Amino acid sequence: MRVLAVGLALLLALPLAAQEQPPSVVRDLAGKVESAHLSRTVVRLASFGTRHTLSDPLAEHRGIGAARRWLAGEFQAIARQSGSRLVAFEDTFQAGPDPLLPRRVELANLGALLPGVDPSRAREALVVAAHYDSRAQDPLDATSDAPGAVDNASGVALVLEMATVMAAERPAVGIYFVATAAGEQGNLGSVRLAGRLKAEGIEVLAMVAADCVGNTALPGGTKANEGMRLFSPGLPAQETEGERRVRELLGSENDGPSRALARYIKRMGEHYVEGFEAMVMLRRDRVGFTGEHLVFDQQGWPAVRVTEAADNFDRLRRNVHSETGRAFGDTPAFFDAGYCAKITRMLVTSFRHLAFAPPPPQNVGLGGCGSPDARLFWTLPDDPRVTGVVLYHRRADMVQWQQTRAFPKSESQVIPGVGTDSDVFAVATLDAQGDESLPVSPRSVAF
Ligand SMILES: [Zn+2]
Repeated sequence: MRVLAVGLALLLALPLAAQEQPPSVVRDLAGKVESAHLSRTVVRLASFGTRHTLSDPLAEHRGIGAARRWLAGEFQAIARQSGSRLVAFEDTFQAGPDPLLPRRVELANLGALLPGVDPSRAREALVVAAHYDSRAQDPLDATSDAPGAVDNASGVALVLEMATVMAAERPAVGIYFVATAAGEQGNLGSVRLAGRLKAEGIEVLAMVAADCVGNTALPGGTKANEGMRLFSPGLPAQETEGERRVRELLGSENDGPSRALARYIKRMGEHYVEGFEAMVMLRRDRVGFTGEHLVFDQQGWPAVRVTEAADNFDRLRRNVHSETGRAFGDTPAFFDAGYCAKITRMLVTSFRHLAFAPPPPQNVGLGGCGSPDARLFWTLPDDPRVTGVVLYHRRADMVQWQQTRAFPKSESQVIPGVGTDSDVFAVATLDAQGDESLPVSPRSVAF
């Protein structure tokens, strides 16, 4: 009888890794992403000439004001579409003066919220954001052309397309789709967004900053179009002394919540986007950069930056010009829409699973130290949709999870023959549709 019950539960709750086909509803959603939509957004945003934060806010066809008004109209339009559940918003605020913004200006974050349907989780949300401003070589040059096709009209196009294809979904938790202001002037829009969410009592389960997601051409004619990079802090910015001590006991410095999110996007997204690799970089950001995801990390929330596999430095932060037949500048001619669509599908599918998944397990701990068999234990959330759990482990010298095993509802499992010292572990909850929560690493050790 017991064997039968276990078998039935496994049948109902197979995790993605064990399924021959990932859920068709998620596959269908990925299929709705259209390269043509991405191209249209990038070409339109580039057509404003410059979107520098200090450019003309009032001109009809050029500058940040015209771009902002067009983008606000786009979010309103997708919220009005038949069947859409999106609520468009525009959050205006004042910023400056500071070294990167020498005078006081009005800024605006633009976006749409897809409300969650689980009343007990009304304060939980996912966030995908991309800055919509641009810059030329000089960070304070507000008049030169700065079309910003890849940096970062591509990211905004991804955010708009995600909102478009997910507009009618009914996730457990909310999803914010946001085009942020002044990314090039110190991430002022993300600071505002994170601060507002915190003040409103929203718990951000996951944040993804899409920044430069459209270049595949490298100088010399080589292509980098078979993957994307995920940058994430290995450890959260906020860590108590007690958490630090446990982390040192466990040796889990490569398994903070943001790194878990990066692995989640890789694991889920790669099921749906064939031949495309998400590279989980063991690095918090591009060298010398402070991306918008780090603003959310500062608030204690899991956050990653998604970016193209390789940047082209003839494009980024270069004035538009040519030298002996070589073109410089970030113009739409170099935007690869098919590639950007693949990154968009990676995020649509991983967000779809995460926003529908039950809450993660709590009080996760590791036991079995000094024995050949590791033991994990945890507390399940009080959510009727939990049908099982998924245990993950990998050798401690590996980046990505190597083993995933599904179990029926339980609050501890022994992993026979896998010791605590050579492997790293995590556990997630699972529902009947194959939606998994973010995996949680052990935060205590039992001897
Ligand atoms: Zn950027």
